[in-house]
Parts: sequence; structure tokens; C-alpha cells
Amino acid sequence: MAHIEVDAAVLAADAHGRCGLLGGAPLSAETARRLTCDCTEVVEHTDAGDALHSSQARRSIPRSTRRALLRRDQGRCQFPGCETKRWVDAHHIIHRAQGGSNDLRNLVTLCRRHHHTVHEGGFHCSRTATGTLAFARPDGTPLEPAPAPAGTPRRLIVATRRRGLAIGPDTVAGGIGESLDLELTIWTLAANRHVRRSRSDAHDAASAEAPSPRPQSTADGPPI
Ligand SMILES: [Zn+2]
Ligand SMILES: [Zn+2]
Repeated sequence: MAHIEVDAAVLAADAHGRCGLLGGAPLSAETARRLTCDCTEVVEHTDAGDALHSSQARRSIPRSTRRALLRRDQGRCQFPGCETKRWVDAHHIIHRAQGGSNDLRNLVTLCRRHHHTVHEGGFHCSRTATGTLAFARPDGTPLEPAPAPAGTPRRLIVATRRRGLAIGPDTVAGGIGESLDLELTIWTLAANRHVRRSRSDAHDAASAEAPSPRPQSTADGPPI
């Protein structure tokens, strides 16, 4: 458990002030915002350092709200493509220090890795007018929503065994025996899908523009 000490003005607007581990290393304001998104207690102090609410220490998110959040998000990280259910945090889309509330619309479940990605990594997370989540890269380009997997890893293992396939950690290897480069593989699959879709669209456009064949006619009768 980490104990941090941070001034409200630092959390709200990156102002100069105290921001660090209690009696230890300094932290960036964004890291402090991540840690205070979902913390056990918030104890506020006066400028002189006296605890204001030491006897009223409160949870950053009420238990009932946390239960409702986990039920809505099925306890799973909501970052596109992530299925992590362990070590998840409740992230405030608008941080409490910046006016955000504990309303469910302002909360989203993120795993520790993607909570870090959204705060320190500069990725954006917002909720649209229709209530759906939208994620974007630091340059503003949107991340496409990733569909949920068709089944659980356990079902995949059972299906693989039924087919008599011996798939192990070394099954997939490169041309010279090196291990799988997962990022390159996914990038290649995505690029191939994009190329196929572009070709299909171009084919559809060409078919729509092509003139319809002229009706043939005979000297004695109507066109056939
Ligand atoms: Zn957060
Ligand atoms: Zn995640």
C-alpha cells in the first residue's frame, strides 16, 4: 500500500505544491491522479499540515458504487482488446479533483496496466452522448472497439484437445525458428484485413460505375 501526500491544487491543475510518497520520492501530478482515482482513504490537511478529516477518512468510491461498477463492467478492464479481470481499478473519466463525480457514467473499470496507459501514457478515455466509451491515442486518433472473444481460454483448450491438436508454447515459430512476434503478427493480420476490405470496396465501386449491357435486338422483334 502506498501513502501519498498531494495538494488539491496539484491534482486539479498541475500547480506547484506537495506531490509525492509520504516522506519519500516525488510523484508527477498525473501519477498522483491515477493513485487517487481509486484509493482506500482520502485525508485532507490544512496548509499547516494538520489533518482536517482524520476522523472522517472516506473511501474514494463508496462500496455500493463499486459493486454496481463491477456488475456493469463484468469486473473486466474496458480498454479495447483487454480481458483482464485481476487487479482492476475504478478510473474516474473526469478526476474528482477536477470536478468529476462518483456517478457510474464517470467511472470505468481498467486494469492496472491500462489505468497507467490512460494517465501517464496520455491515452484518452471519454463517454459519448449515447453512453458508450471512446478511447483515443495521445495524438487523438480513435481506438476501434475490440469485440469480446467468442469463448473463454478454457473452452479453447478443451476444443483444441478434442481435435487432437498438440498446441504448445513452441508451436508457432518464425521461418528460422525464432519465437512468435505477437505485435508483428497482429499488425500483419490487421493490415491484410484492411487490404481485403479496400479491394472489396474498390470492386463494389467499379461494379456500380460499369454501364449496364445494351439490350440485343433482332430485326423482327423486340429486344431480348
Ligand atoms: Zn484513473
Ligand atoms: Zn486492461
